[in-house]
Amino acid sequence: MTQQTLAFQAEVSKLLQIVANSLYSHKEVFLRELISNASDAADRLRYEAIASPELTAGDPTFKVLLRPDQAAKTLTIEDNGIGMSRQDLIDNLGTIARSGSAAFLKQATDAKEKDVSIIGQFGVGFYSAFIVADKVEVTSRRAGSDEAWTWTSDGKGSFTVTQATRPGRGTTIVLHLKDEHIEFADPFTLRRVVKAHSDHIGLPVKLANKDGEETVNEASALWMRARKDVTEEQYKEFYQHVTHGFDEPWLTIHNKAEGRLEYTALLFVPGTRPADLYQPERKSPVRLYVRRVFVTDEAKALIPSYLRFLRGVVDTEDIALNVSREMLQHDPVLARIGSALTTKVFSELEKKAEKEPEAYEKFWENFGPVLKEGLYEDPAKRDQVFKLARFRSTASEKLTSLAEYVARMKEKQEAIYFITGDNAAVLRHSPQIEGFLARGYEVLLLTDAVDEFWVPAVALYEGKKFVSVTQGAAELGPAPASDKQERVEGGELAVLIAHLKQGLGDAVKDVRATDRLTDSAACLVAGDTDMPRHLARMLRAQGQLQGSLPGILEINPAHALIRAMAQQMTNVGAREHVLDLGRLLVDQERIREGDGPTDIAAFSKRLSDVMARALTGKVA
Ligand code: ADP
Ligand code: MG
Repeated sequence: MTQQTLAFQAEVSKLLQIVANSLYSHKEVFLRELISNASDAADRLRYEAIASPELTAGDPTFKVLLRPDQAAKTLTIEDNGIGMSRQDLIDNLGTIARSGSAAFLKQATDAKEKDVSIIGQFGVGFYSAFIVADKVEVTSRRAGSDEAWTWTSDGKGSFTVTQATRPGRGTTIVLHLKDEHIEFADPFTLRRVVKAHSDHIGLPVKLANKDGEETVNEASALWMRARKDVTEEQYKEFYQHVTHGFDEPWLTIHNKAEGRLEYTALLFVPGTRPADLYQPERKSPVRLYVRRVFVTDEAKALIPSYLRFLRGVVDTEDIALNVSREMLQHDPVLARIGSALTTKVFSELEKKAEKEPEAYEKFWENFGPVLKEGLYEDPAKRDQVFKLARFRSTASEKLTSLAEYVARMKEKQEAIYFITGDNAAVLRHSPQIEGFLARGYEVLLLTDAVDEFWVPAVALYEGKKFVSVTQGAAELGPAPASDKQERVEGGELAVLIAHLKQGLGDAVKDVRATDRLTDSAACLVAGDTDMPRHLARMLRAQGQLQGSLPGILEINPAHALIRAMAQQMTNVGAREHVLDLGRLLVDQERIREGDGPTDIAAFSKRLSDVMARALTGKVA
């Protein structure tokens, strides 16, 4: 078959639309993206040629060449990298194989405006060519093959693949520039854009002129330079190159290790949260080089998954270049470098937390939930993660560390109290924490999904237990302020509890009195060994758990409503009314928790009936 027309995968069409509409003000990035692909193609061939030197024989020097043609309104970008076969062209330029693309498209579609930062964090890649071109032709020949194919598209739903010829291996991309973008056929513009965005990639970028070719970038590995010789601006350019983004690094770690392990690392903590942070199939965040030769971006052993927000490169002398990528995954040297890097990253984060606590909060908001995975994934590093962790708490609106919490603990307080939920503002007003606050205890407000997992896994911080305020019985004793308050007690209380327990049936697991409450009449809690109620809600939302778990209804014997309910128990005719009140209390707490009443119709009717009785006085 010499020519075939194929449709883009639906996601590609969608992406192309988003790119065309939102990246207008960043149109220059197309060049960075295409040069970066040429550089990747050179990297991949350089690595393959270690085992198969014949692949680069006759043309051993990698480069990318820009050929502007103002008369024809085209810009041609030519590389002698690994090239693409016909199938590669179809797979790579007709689909989005990248991890996180589904998540990205959802976010980008949901984003109110043309949110460049989201696209930036995903990396538009090759498709950015359509920001400036209304037609793109890609002719490519895979190293080692003598077939060439041309991929052509106007970016509007389909592309064509045609048999072609190309003198040697590599890829030639012809951009037919839109009228409003012919500036990209101007050598001055090209020099400026390459300088600004691709100055420090390893591959030389050349520009064709009437006398031949000129090199327009530095083409040296930035990470190998001494830190003092690199400017902020250069770090930023390199950061944007590795992230394909537009934002600035939040933290730059440039580190050269000598001695037992020899490596250079240039790592960045991004300024914004990448779209694919929670995609299990994503690549390693850090590119591994061995003596300046790119080896893999899939060395998962290098960076622990709870530091997967990092971006950058690691270049080492300690690994043999001819080790296969599979073997590499288990190379103990890689694990040792990873461990050393982790320690380095921790200490840099600690410094930043100490010196710039406010800037640190921004980091924590972005990546804290990921870092907290380290608490259960890497027990050996747990103490270091705890040092970096910040929490919302009832002590103030500001974030707090655990060390600060412990320093504030009351004299007789033995545990670190916490509550989990979706929203800190809502948690601050949870009835379950009232009694703790009344006694001067501070409660941590944990709102990340991961909190449900690390807390049970760690059990202790500096010998102190983590105790949920929504779980098990709270033995707090009466609150200091409520000492003089009237409360129902003894037989009277027992009669009410027995009545509610019997009447509520399966709607609750148990009914009991509590010291946990001061202002509220009732709350729901989970039994000691039950699944935490917030975790159950999370799992239900994900479809991993069916049905709702009945909670334990705890009532406040000092509350006016509970006292009145107890009194009503002497009136046999009012008992059904008391039970209605009990049912309403259960539903009220279910609403507060976010589940809502079990039977919304019955709830509404009951509420109206009870209100009517309250006004007419006819309870029996
Ligand atoms: P990414 O570079 O993040 O993988 P792109 O959209 O930039 O995504 O490119 C998609 C794929 O197309 C690349 O992964 C690569 O396999 C292929 N590709 C693009 N440009 C080239 C090129 N110049 N030479 C060889 N392969 C290329
Ligand atoms: Mg790319």
